[in-house]
Amino acid sequence: MKKIFFTPGPSQLYPTVNRYIKEALALNIPSISHRGDKFHEIYSGAIAQFKKLYRVPKGHYVFFLSSATEAMERIIENLVIKDSLHFVNGSFSNLFYKVATSLSINTKKIEVPMGEGFDFNKLKIPINFEIACFTQNETSTGVMIPMEDIYSFQKRFPKSLIALDIVSSAPFVNVDFSLIDCVFFSVQKGFGLPAGLGVLILKPNVINRAMSVKKKKTSQGSYHSFENYLKYYEKNETPETPNVLNIYLFGKVCQDMNKKGLNAIRKETIIKARKIYYLTQKNNKFTPFVKEERFRSLTVAVLNIAGGSKQILNYLKEKGYIVGSGYKDFKDKQIRIANFPQHSLEDVESLLSLVLRYN
Ligand SMILES: *Cc1c(COP(=O)(O)O)cnc(C)c1O
Repeated sequence: MKKIFFTPGPSQLYPTVNRYIKEALALNIPSISHRGDKFHEIYSGAIAQFKKLYRVPKGHYVFFLSSATEAMERIIENLVIKDSLHFVNGSFSNLFYKVATSLSINTKKIEVPMGEGFDFNKLKIPINFEIACFTQNETSTGVMIPMEDIYSFQKRFPKSLIALDIVSSAPFVNVDFSLIDCVFFSVQKGFGLPAGLGVLILKPNVINRAMSVKKKKTSQGSYHSFENYLKYYEKNETPETPNVLNIYLFGKVCQDMNKKGLNAIRKETIIKARKIYYLTQKNNKFTPFVKEERFRSLTVAVLNIAGGSKQILNYLKEKGYIVGSGYKDFKDKQIRIANFPQHSLEDVESLLSLVLRYN
């Protein structure tokens, strides 16, 4: 039976990926040298397509890592001497906090309950921190941080760096890359690709910062220190043998998204999100977990299910629709529906009509 994955990651593949994998095999992409011309072309081509899609300024760096979790570690290792600040309202923002803590720096966290957003004007913000870390879209709870809030935070604390996790909101969320120092995501969510590739976008000034941090730290990591990475980046290479197949596929999907246009993708995402949340008005068994609409994610909808989520998840699974369960403590109480570019309006509509028929 044909299955459609509405899980928040790994998720449904972008519709053309199947064809590109076959094409890559026919072209022997998995066997080519990662130091040769063909690879240089794939690497620089993928970065060019991505930069065009997401309007990333020319001078910004785009580093391919193994995952978003790796990006968290590299950011802290390379840029923080003593203090980081974390806004935590779910499992992934807490992961960033934990990664930083295990690197033996002073981490501070500002925590609000799961399902709630941050009111930055009311929170007591400590003064000394070198970097503030935000999870723009908290995949575990479906809470998002409006970008305006992050820009105004930055105006208030112009000396600190900003690190932004956009794993489950890219490429939907509109980021002004000229304003944010470090932005990262992995590709198995909103880019509809197999897992195993992280993308880290750095403002040029970040490299200078890493160089000055170097003088004050015993280690910034090894092969993926920003300094070492940059040496290879300038040759269109990575220090290690990277996930060549996925870099190839990433370039192809970005190219397809460019053909469609990010504006069209964004408009469609909003329309699909409205339809998904409309469920909660049609049937009072479903309620949005995030009460305040301003913080409600459009790319990962988290719904409380009266009476529990197990049955409905199984029912949908039998029909070929794989929907996410709640995260951790909410596993049996909620469903999470991903709304990524690879989820067509038709597929969302058939999922929703099944959900409504269930009751
Ligand atoms: C999935 C996810 C991550 C972790 O991504 P990996 O590729 O597994 O490292 C981090 N942050 C958010 C918000 C996520 O949704």
